[in-house]
Amino acid sequence: MARFKIPDGWVVQAYRYALDPTPAQERGLASHAGAARFARNHMLRLVKAVLDQRSAERSYGVAEDVLTPVLGWSLPALRRVWNARKNSAAPWWKENSKEAYNSGLDSLARSLESWSKSRGGRRAGRPVGFPRFHTKRARASVRFTTGPLRLEPDRHHVTLPRLGRIRTHESTRKLALRIENATARVLSATVARDSDGRWCVSFQTLVQRTTTRPAHAGIRHAVVGVDVGVKDLLVVATPDGAEVDRVPAPRSLARATVRLRALQRKASRQQGPYDPQSKHKRLPSKRWRRTQALIGKAHARAASIRRDTVQKATTRLAQQHLTITVETLNVSGMRTAGGACKRGLNRALADAALAQVRRMLAYKTIWYGSRLVEADRWYPSSKTCSGCGSRKPRLLLAERSYVCEHCGLVIDRDLNAAINLARLGETHTLSERSPAGSGPVAGRGAMQETGPAPAGDAAGCETSTPPQHPLDQTGTASPQGEAA
Ligand SMILES: [Zn+2]
Repeated sequence: MARFKIPDGWVVQAYRYALDPTPAQERGLASHAGAARFARNHMLRLVKAVLDQRSAERSYGVAEDVLTPVLGWSLPALRRVWNARKNSAAPWWKENSKEAYNSGLDSLARSLESWSKSRGGRRAGRPVGFPRFHTKRARASVRFTTGPLRLEPDRHHVTLPRLGRIRTHESTRKLALRIENATARVLSATVARDSDGRWCVSFQTLVQRTTTRPAHAGIRHAVVGVDVGVKDLLVVATPDGAEVDRVPAPRSLARATVRLRALQRKASRQQGPYDPQSKHKRLPSKRWRRTQALIGKAHARAASIRRDTVQKATTRLAQQHLTITVETLNVSGMRTAGGACKRGLNRALADAALAQVRRMLAYKTIWYGSRLVEADRWYPSSKTCSGCGSRKPRLLLAERSYVCEHCGLVIDRDLNAAINLARLGETHTLSERSPAGSGPVAGRGAMQETGPAPAGDAAGCETSTPPQHPLDQTGTASPQGEAA
């Protein structure tokens, strides 16, 4: 799939608004999300059947050229087959916008591509498994790329194809102003239901932004290191060992986490969908389901508190410092091998926060002309002494302060890690600057470190689809992908 070229001075950014749909609109939203899921599952079943048929034929010794023909995995191919089958498979298909089915097929095409690339060794990162069927418990979402996608002039409604005018929970002013001034264009809109049951719309937009540092921010430090944790969300330090900033987790977050733990314990005492005695599935009790709904709400609340804190902190970081160094996300649990042992919820929270910080810094450093340096995955930032450079073989998470056996340094553990990261960032900056003699190019570091398209993840938008619209279209997109 050809990647969309983002013109200079423009970035892809998501604007997300919570919705207040009427009960009828809520049914419409659920129907559209269900339609996307249905189309995806239906075509996945077909793809699987064809693959199984071919392998069975091979086992009988059928020649390669007379095997059942493969089913195309591209979106147009899947759409063609779906269009031919939809009248019999889903006679009710006209109830929903064609975009609903298209977004399900798009998700399937992407999953199949990732799987086949990963299997062929053409994809970085963790191995990707064969696509799975989406159950009703999967996150309900549907994406619109064509038809009327509008923000209404009253700043409190959005218009979506087939679903019509839906009230937004908060004002859409920021994006609406940008659209009116022609500095933003809507590419697509994704509607999804969060774990607390609330529907949200996320507009993927192309926004014109100049790389500028706001005058009020002022540059405080050339290089800082950032350690991301649970109790203190962020600890920021300079290479010379000074603590610049410490962002504690807000109390409301601690309360939400306590509640989440309590609810999970409660659910474990109730009759869940798995029976440990017979080791079989069973019908969960109503009380278990009720607790699950509360767990979803508690999760969503904790997540939004954390997101808010991290958003504000990362903006401050990107505006005030020139080079920011962070840890690289530990993908497959290497942190347990000799490093800090983080398990369960704490570990999950720390990893989620780190991923969030990195993603936000990746685009904010571009906005404000600073740069992001990511430490090597094996860089022992928390095990190294920031005083003498000696390294500990093992450091438990429970040890809140770092005590060095060589030089006798006693220092807060997170601060120690942040200082080490800052020093790494400093050496990185110096080594890059020396050959050409020029200063760090704004955003370049971030672009190199975070892979091919950091801007596509801007503002944490959920859709990963590269927009395919040419630039000369305004808010309402053209009819592209007509038959779906
Ligand atoms: Zn030491």
